[in-house]
Amino acid sequence: MRILLLTISFNLLCLLCSAQKNVDSLKHFYTSKIEMLLDKEKALQPYYTINDSGIFINAKTKENTFYREFGVEWSELDTVKKILNHFSDDSLISFINSREPLSTLAYSETNRKQNFENKKQLSGIKIAIDPGHIAGDMKTAMLEKKYIQFNYNNQPIAITEGVLTLQTALILKHLLEEQGAEVMLTREKSNQTAFGITFKEWLEKHFKNAVDSSYKLNEITEQEKTFLLTKATQREIFRSYFNNLDMRQRAKKINEFSPDLSVIIHYNVDEKNTGWKKPSDKNYNMIFVAGSFLKNELEKPIDRLSFFRLLLTDDTEQSTKLAENLMKCFTAKLNVPTADSTTADYLTKYCITKSKGVYARNLTLTRLIKGVVVYGETLYQDNASECIELSRMNTEVFGIKTSARIKQVAEAFYEGIISYLKE
Ligand SMILES: [Zn+2]
Repeated sequence: MRILLLTISFNLLCLLCSAQKNVDSLKHFYTSKIEMLLDKEKALQPYYTINDSGIFINAKTKENTFYREFGVEWSELDTVKKILNHFSDDSLISFINSREPLSTLAYSETNRKQNFENKKQLSGIKIAIDPGHIAGDMKTAMLEKKYIQFNYNNQPIAITEGVLTLQTALILKHLLEEQGAEVMLTREKSNQTAFGITFKEWLEKHFKNAVDSSYKLNEITEQEKTFLLTKATQREIFRSYFNNLDMRQRAKKINEFSPDLSVIIHYNVDEKNTGWKKPSDKNYNMIFVAGSFLKNELEKPIDRLSFFRLLLTDDTEQSTKLAENLMKCFTAKLNVPTADSTTADYLTKYCITKSKGVYARNLTLTRLIKGVVVYGETLYQDNASECIELSRMNTEVFGIKTSARIKQVAEAFYEGIISYLKE
């Protein structure tokens, strides 16, 4: 009898021991993930608690004290991990406000129909593409300040980034669709915003209502509201207000589409060539993924929710894998070197290096788009040879008149996506 009791208590002890070991390894895993990926300045400690019970997010009061806002017990970790990408941020935040534990949120898993009769390699895969910026002409490009314009060797150079990104996105869309993928673009035409209309049309139809609703939601102060409605120029409205709404609309569209992966397409410039009135001899590729929050970037509930989601899911790990595949193709196909931390000041100020040329950076879109998402910044538009190549409309592909260099960039994105999906 005594031996039996001893055996039972010994087994119980072993069980407790291994449970504690499991909790310790979870604590270690999530604490180091925050240090390695999410907390750029090692200043976010008050906003989270990782202990023997679980992971908890804390909010700040007006008196600068912190209180527990929401979180997950270790026993419910797997359930909550699955929930996070199935609900919109708004519905999660109102659920959090109701003080119910996240694990009680019910959802039904939707199985995506795979078309097995279709033998194309991307059949059943959904891909979202966001062509950066809006401008399709120099006037709009000046409004959003995304252009370069100068004379080089007696040749006038005028490049709007919104044109480069849209042409790249359209070619990439065709390449992916040829292989059976379902592709969604956040904007499909020149000068079109994520709302499906031009900025001018948005100003006429939606500006006043948008400002009113932003004010009601406490997103802008009364002073800002008055300034926007009475004094602000179109340029000021665009840069200080509309741009952020457009970003959020892009993220919303993509999240509603629920893709297997998302790519955001941009072309870079040399940050030290300010004014962009002359060509630069520099040229680099870089890619951003989510992470690297700065010390004042967890003040809003939606940001704390994003932080929690990125901590619990493996979205950033998968995004880094996609980014690494893309970077290999960018370097090989475009013959442009990979950025390192000395390439630009923003890489050391705001980013955490994940791997060669791949950086975690807390951009609106890397933060708001759920799932696998990369933000590609290929080559420098103001580079001496690139600005000439990008200006030459010397080829036509899928009915799109474009530069052979843009076609190459689209192909590099395509090859990177294929090699990631094959992994
Ligand atoms: Zn850009």
